Amino acid sequence: MLRWQQAEGKRHALEGPFAPRPEESFVALCGVEVTVAREDVPQLGGNWFDPTCAVCSSAWLSRT
Ligand SMILES: [Zn+2]
Repeated sequence: MLRWQQAEGKRHALEGPFAPRPEESFVALCGVEVTVAREDVPQLGGNWFDPTCAVCSSAWLSRT
């Protein structure tokens, strides 16, 4: 499934069954490989204040 994940200063979209955990990296729909930090995980007290990645956003829309 598609999901959003904040990492390295943007909210990216990715395809996968699970949300990435801290220190894990993933390749977003925009093609960039990013690493998740602890502050990027809401369950660990993080907040998603970063802007949405525009490339991931349009890739998401083209898939649904
Ligand atoms: Zn992206």
